[in-house]
Amino acid sequence: MNSTIPIIDIDPSAGFCSGVNRAIRIAEENLEQSGQLHCLGNMVHNEAELERLKSLGMNFVNQNDIGPETEHVFIRAHGEPPETYRMLEENSNHVVDGTCPVVLRLQRKVKESSRIFHEKGSGKVVIYGKPGHPEIIGLLGQTYGNAILVKNIDEAHQLDFSEPMAVFAQTTANEDDYNLLCRFIAEQSFLKTASQHNVEIFYSICRQMSQRVPTLRGFAKSHDIIIFVSGSESSNGKYLAGISREINPRTYVVKDVTEIGDWFQITDRIGISGATSTPLWLMQSVADYIKSSFEQKQ
Ligand code: SF4
Repeated sequence: MNSTIPIIDIDPSAGFCSGVNRAIRIAEENLEQSGQLHCLGNMVHNEAELERLKSLGMNFVNQNDIGPETEHVFIRAHGEPPETYRMLEENSNHVVDGTCPVVLRLQRKVKESSRIFHEKGSGKVVIYGKPGHPEIIGLLGQTYGNAILVKNIDEAHQLDFSEPMAVFAQTTANEDDYNLLCRFIAEQSFLKTASQHNVEIFYSICRQMSQRVPTLRGFAKSHDIIIFVSGSESSNGKYLAGISREINPRTYVVKDVTEIGDWFQITDRIGISGATSTPLWLMQSVADYIKSSFEQKQ
């Protein structure tokens, strides 16, 4: 190793989850054959990756842009509600489905719980997540009008705790907050009904998300400085960068190499991390840039 170049590591747990990687792989394979795909919504919250996909022939569109003349429509990892599939079928669009298998399983479970409550005539599906998030829209679309979305404990105060409930979380939800919410609902339900069986809790947070925070904490601790690569719109990026900064105050957020400053010392062990929407190639380009800037100083 050249002693005048600091150690630069890329966080092995950073970057796209397997569901997004899979969706991108499916899209790339199809683009090779069809030359053009219309993706419903943005694939990831990362401008550089969106530009790369656009250069391969991907168009990012909304539902109003889709008509019978649209040939190939791509569904991203977050999934879609049944109405979307109905609309695409009526249009006879060719659908390339990149829905993450974990999201698909969650959709099925939500649908099943909702169906059972619907047939019994009582009960609510409670979904913890972010209003307007595409995965939430896809999950609510599975239900028979008996679902309630809650975004925090305050909103959960309005639930009817005398009713049976099945509680689910968006796959990317914060695990600690979800645990608090579930405890609150279970306690309130018990107080109201004296039964511990009125509420069924599903731990539907994706393991790749729940493991991300402890792994990042360890990575931030074991490096002198963290360069956190994330698109400006990524809420996951803001959250994870905050976690990194709590452990390592020398955490800098950049969208790409153009935002890198003169922050390094030769003795630093440098860590490159990123949001779940940050592609590995972008983190590698940041590592290469830092390395070459030290090489140029020699
Ligand atoms: S469920 Fe997990 S693997 Fe699938 S898209 Fe969500 S975070 Fe990624």
